[in-house]
Amino acid sequence: MLATVLSAVVTVQNPQVGIADTSPDGINPGSLLIQEVVKLPLEFVRQLSIKVQHERPGWRCDKVIDIYSGCALSLPNLTYPVLHLSTHTPPLCVEIKPKWGFLPSSKHVSKDIKSKVCRFCMYQLYKVATGKWKKRSLYCPLDLFSGNKQRMHFAIRQLIEEPQNNLKIFKGGQCIYSRKDSDDSLDLNSLLHHLRPYFLQGNNRFNCHMTNKAVLNDFIQVLMNALLSSEGREGGPVNDRHAERQSYCDASLFNKERSRQGSQGLPGDSVLSRILQTQMLDMRDIEELYPLYHRVEQHLQDFPKQRARLHIEGPYNKEFLEMLQKCPAEDDGSVEYAATKIHQYLITKTAKDCSIMVALVPSSDKEEEDEGYSWRRGSRPPPFTSLVSILDLDPKPFDSILYQLRLDQTIVSFYLQTRSALPEDSVSSHPTICAAPEKEECTLLFHPV
Ligand SMILES: [Zn+2]
Repeated sequence: MLATVLSAVVTVQNPQVGIADTSPDGINPGSLLIQEVVKLPLEFVRQLSIKVQHERPGWRCDKVIDIYSGCALSLPNLTYPVLHLSTHTPPLCVEIKPKWGFLPSSKHVSKDIKSKVCRFCMYQLYKVATGKWKKRSLYCPLDLFSGNKQRMHFAIRQLIEEPQNNLKIFKGGQCIYSRKDSDDSLDLNSLLHHLRPYFLQGNNRFNCHMTNKAVLNDFIQVLMNALLSSEGREGGPVNDRHAERQSYCDASLFNKERSRQGSQGLPGDSVLSRILQTQMLDMRDIEELYPLYHRVEQHLQDFPKQRARLHIEGPYNKEFLEMLQKCPAEDDGSVEYAATKIHQYLITKTAKDCSIMVALVPSSDKEEEDEGYSWRRGSRPPPFTSLVSILDLDPKPFDSILYQLRLDQTIVSFYLQTRSALPEDSVSSHPTICAAPEKEECTLLFHPV
């Protein structure tokens, strides 16, 4: 449901960013009901909850399955898009949690560091210090969202090196690469073993030895193409606040000198651009937002029955959208303004926590022959059909604002305290940059959740 709201809000506020999309065969996936709420017997849910408990990562176990609602969301298996399979080769699927792709502008923040170092990079120090993860991730979301292929390549490479909960890779629907918790071991060689047959194409298939590095580079290249794909539409680089904002995070270990050729920006219709646009729907920082939250809270103490009118717990329906649309541009001191700004912030928060599922379906031999793909002549990487979806669009609770403010303060002050102790040489090696990508077919699927 929030996805529907999300799309409507984005469409309303940024008309250049539509979320509904059309696949190459002309079907509008937005109109296909592939996710639905289903009713389940309570006893079944209770037993399921017990059964899956030991499968869940330790850091998720503080959250429990609601066994009393009797409802569940039925989703397609995005790791195994059966309808699109044209070969017996199992599809690959990559799940990425990209997190916050921009820095708040300095006028909104009290600590200058927040406009220089991104939230993800700051949070890493805190997570490692508190034992959530043993090793720091060198992934920086600003590199992934940059649209610069070298920076994106670097970012994806870092996700593979230390996936934490930001990357999972599936083959034929089975997870083959992830880190469940900090004690879970990773096996990059095993991943490469799985990936190798997909990339031994063309000349390599018969006689060439392909190094692990080449396999990994090709895989990253294919993934990057899917993330940047805009279905060949007139997307163009995002022309909004991108230009004005600082696009580098000071904590990123990507060597800035290597991308001085300039950044192309994200294609306006790509999945990353859509997520970023939604994240930037409200640029307000949590510090700036908190007084508005306080205003609503005080109002509700006096008029508790107005919770429903202000949609504090939803529902995210037509009336909710109308409330957002009616909001005055400037703060008129009203509770409506405050509530709307918090709702907008919570929508951006959802976009900061969502996951992207990229299913990579190998093309059939017949298609390859029909299309006369150039990889047969030795170029790389081989053709895949990619299907990109967005998941984890759970609405954030209205009352989470205070928690978010405290967390933000903790992360920032911890970062400021410990940053001087950071090792300078934490990057083991720089990745090799791949050749220019080929255009790939891509279907963007945005479904109501
Ligand atoms: Zn960063």
